[in-house]
Amino acid sequence: MDIRNVDVAIIGSGSAGLNARRQIEKDGGTPLLIESGPYGTTCARVGCMPSKLLIAASDIAHEIAGADRFGIDAGEWQVDGARVMQRVRSERDRFVGFVVRDTGGLPGEQRLIGRARFLESTTLQVDDHTRVESKAVIIAAGSTPVIPPPFDAIRGHVMINDDVFELETLPASLAVIGTGIIGLELGQALDRLGVRVTFFSPFDRLGPSTDPEVQQVVREVLSEELDLQLGSEMLTADPDDDGVRLRWRDAGGTEQEAHFERILVAAGRRPNLAGLALETTGLTLDERGRPAWDARTTQCGDAPIFMAGDVSAHIPLLHEAADEGRIAGKNSLLYPHVSAHIRRTPLAVAFTDPQIGMAGLRYDQLDLDQVEIGEVSFADQGRSRVMGKNAGIMRVYADRNRCEIIGAEMFGPRVEHMAHLLAWSAQQRLPVSRALEMPFYHPVVEEGMRTALRDLAEKLGITGECRCEDLARAPGT
Ligand SMILES: Cc1cc2nc3c(=O)[nH]c(=O)nc-3n(C[C@H](O)[C@H](O)[C@H](O)COP(=O)(O)OP(=O)(O)OC[C@H]3O[C@@H](n4cnc5c(N)ncnc54)[C@H](O)[C@@H]3O)c2cc1C
Repeated sequence: MDIRNVDVAIIGSGSAGLNARRQIEKDGGTPLLIESGPYGTTCARVGCMPSKLLIAASDIAHEIAGADRFGIDAGEWQVDGARVMQRVRSERDRFVGFVVRDTGGLPGEQRLIGRARFLESTTLQVDDHTRVESKAVIIAAGSTPVIPPPFDAIRGHVMINDDVFELETLPASLAVIGTGIIGLELGQALDRLGVRVTFFSPFDRLGPSTDPEVQQVVREVLSEELDLQLGSEMLTADPDDDGVRLRWRDAGGTEQEAHFERILVAAGRRPNLAGLALETTGLTLDERGRPAWDARTTQCGDAPIFMAGDVSAHIPLLHEAADEGRIAGKNSLLYPHVSAHIRRTPLAVAFTDPQIGMAGLRYDQLDLDQVEIGEVSFADQGRSRVMGKNAGIMRVYADRNRCEIIGAEMFGPRVEHMAHLLAWSAQQRLPVSRALEMPFYHPVVEEGMRTALRDLAEKLGITGECRCEDLARAPGT
């Protein structure tokens, strides 16, 4: 049995773990990065990057399919599934290659391959070969897709997101189980690439938005394009010759069945805590086996144990995982005198088309008595209509007393950019009147955001504080 002595042991070499390691090295400590799987991170290997590569191909197919309404005859065209997947993989491998090279190139004393579990709060056993003694441990073990019944019984016949990117070519048909961000992004992309896709969910929610008005428009718009079985109950899933036969009860109570060549389960993810033997650490665990955790310090209870990234189940997004890794790295060396970090304003984007964006406080976090909501529809917004992408809604939330932007939810063309602007505004607690003083070019989709801000100014009763040029309305903006 090898024994390794380090300042900080890091479980997991994903985005959180890598950022933690870098911070510890920068601050003069000795980190040890322990990894049980392949290097390359979830983001680059099976997450953010390959999913956006698939979406990029589907965007092209969608534009060509819609070319006719712009007077353009695209002629005979077809999607070559094998080549689509080949590009997804080769570009993905390029991204992964950089991470593998950098991680594999770390000094040997900073790396260890194997599955880690706790023996006590600062002692880890890695496979059967190494015991690691440290002053602090960072858990950066990521998350794993949940496979609900009846699909757990036929695991060998269903795909998770990892498997999608390994497809040699596109299937003829696909059932997507789950209508969260991952299911919608991948399912809509495959649908637009010519796969017959049906989405199943026992709920009627589509994507991450918590605002009922935004949800309503998401449902209206996406149901025109996608086959959605919302509010359905899955009864059986039986593998057959060339896929799986599903039987379900639809929202109206009628039993239906259909054959699908492939099934993609995207029904949520759970933190990779099982198997870490956290019960040996002395931490108090809740009924789901999770320790108390402080998002500002990333510390678990008052122990020399920190959690960063998806494993914390805080906000499972790349930039949050990277931040938590850095905070955990810093505090692991400062322990027991950890410092609290003010976290960034929340920002999330679902790369559906139209996109879904969330900035600052969500609707379900608002005290509606203290808030005014400005709204715009993208149905007649000038630039959106020019592009033939005139669908969606934006709702901007402001504190009624201070008249400052505190959050927004939106669904519309390229809202990834406006979600940033509104998150930055919320983080600065920008007054609505100050936001309206900013320049807006013409014609851009941001003019739609200005309409929502003007609506907000009216509802807040602050138009008297705004300059006349900031309130002037022009048609189609
Ligand atoms: C399909 C998909 C699309 C996504 N798209 C986006 C997006 O567009 N934008 C965005 O911000 N986020 C996106 N995300 C989320 C983002 O990828 C994650 O938030 C981020 O990658 C999490 O990083 P992490 O370091 O916490 O986990 P990971 O990168 O998963 O790293 C965890 C590591 O820990 C290792 N490990 C686990 N247990 C042990 C153990 N006991 N011992 C040793 N090693 C262990 C694992 O092998 C793994 O390598 C997406 C995710 C998915 C799945």
